[in-house]
Amino acid sequence: MQMEQAKAVGKVNPFETAQHEIDEAAKVLAIDGGVHEFIRWPQRELHVSFPVQMDDGSWRLFKGYRVQHSFARGPAKGGIRYHPDVDIDEVRALATWMTMKCAVVGIPYGGAKGGVIVDVKKHSAKEVERITRRFTAEIAPIIGPEKDIPAPDVYTNAQTMAWIMDTYSALKGYTVTGVVTGKPISLGGSLGRDKATARGGMFVVREAAKAIGLNLKGAKVAIQGFGNAGSVAAQLFAEMGAVVVAVDDSQGGAWNEHGLDVQALMAHKAKARTVKGFPGSKDIKRDELFALPVDILVPAALENQVTKENAGLIKAKIVLELANGPTTPDADRILHQNKVMILPDILANAGGVTVSYFEWVQDLGSYFWTEDEVNRRLETIMVRAFNDVHSEATARGVNHRKAAYLVAVKRVADAVTMRGFFP
Ligand code: NAD
Repeated sequence: MQMEQAKAVGKVNPFETAQHEIDEAAKVLAIDGGVHEFIRWPQRELHVSFPVQMDDGSWRLFKGYRVQHSFARGPAKGGIRYHPDVDIDEVRALATWMTMKCAVVGIPYGGAKGGVIVDVKKHSAKEVERITRRFTAEIAPIIGPEKDIPAPDVYTNAQTMAWIMDTYSALKGYTVTGVVTGKPISLGGSLGRDKATARGGMFVVREAAKAIGLNLKGAKVAIQGFGNAGSVAAQLFAEMGAVVVAVDDSQGGAWNEHGLDVQALMAHKAKARTVKGFPGSKDIKRDELFALPVDILVPAALENQVTKENAGLIKAKIVLELANGPTTPDADRILHQNKVMILPDILANAGGVTVSYFEWVQDLGSYFWTEDEVNRRLETIMVRAFNDVHSEATARGVNHRKAAYLVAVKRVADAVTMRGFFP
């Protein structure tokens, strides 16, 4: 939804949210006006319309975007989302958040994001493959290992990345594994990438829990969204001895106040394609899940889920944002007033892009690391990033979101300033 439309129906525009965070940080940091304006806007956007043949022989037109927000600190990096609600401002927001995320964890990338307006549930695997290959051909001129490296996001996965890599390689005439990350291991993917977003979040929440004296053993957790980020988080929380009491997905929820058996829940989801109906659990609606008496709440679905209408219901001590942009600015203020510690998306879910960076490094060097090595390096980066943000929050007396933006905007602005403007 574009800005004007969003305003008309009173919806929060995620790109305005992203720009607002940058503006607030730029003010505190007294960033030069020209540099600030440059950081607020994507450097490059590609809008594409492309035809794809359906299995029944008919042709359909699809629309997609690739937005490259910043190249200040290196090539652009960010996922590709397939969703019927994709729109340009959502993709701009996601690209902007990628720039900030890469800066917070200190990896040498700018930010990008892509999206195709499509409901994959309404297409066969063959149709999704053709959509992916044709979209890749449309964006091929602006992607590449030195330019912009896509990755999975909502409703795209390792298979999607394999198709993108194959199509891009066919167009180039040689195999280019480094053009995407999140690939299957057999095609130059990194061990540990599939669990990296949630694992990175675990390192962050572990450090945060230490800081506020919360014991994670026995801590109660509720998770919104049960895809790559949410389901792996549930497994890792269970491995750490925390008790996952509720989860949901787009079809419904599963709640048991004594805890859910996460392994059995994974098996149920694989079969039923939803967590709803998990034996021994009750269905639960989103706002009921948010209102549960838990220690940690994990939004791991989509943006704009925690709003001014439901933020006051949240009883958790920590909100771990594995999703991108799940909290609106109004809700953020309410959580801060209620002394809820928010571990913001650009820090909490940065494990995904960090191991994507490791994958790219391994592809460029054609030398692959063990999973232990990947996880150890991920831990080092996530703990350092948490400490950078936590020190900033403590020193300036601000919440962790503001602190993360202060760290990120400063790093991006420093890069822009040092490079200067061409010509
Ligand atoms: P996914 O497609 O694997 O899963 C999305 C999940 O959200 C599914 O379980 C779906 O049913 C659920 N969902 C959709 N609408 C919902 C709703 N209204 N209520 C409850 N659940 C709903 O996607 P993912 O990769 O897990 O991504 C989830 C979030 O995490 C997104 O915001 C994404 O941008 C972010 N993220 C993902 C990664 C990654 O590496 N996968 C990295 C960083 C951030």
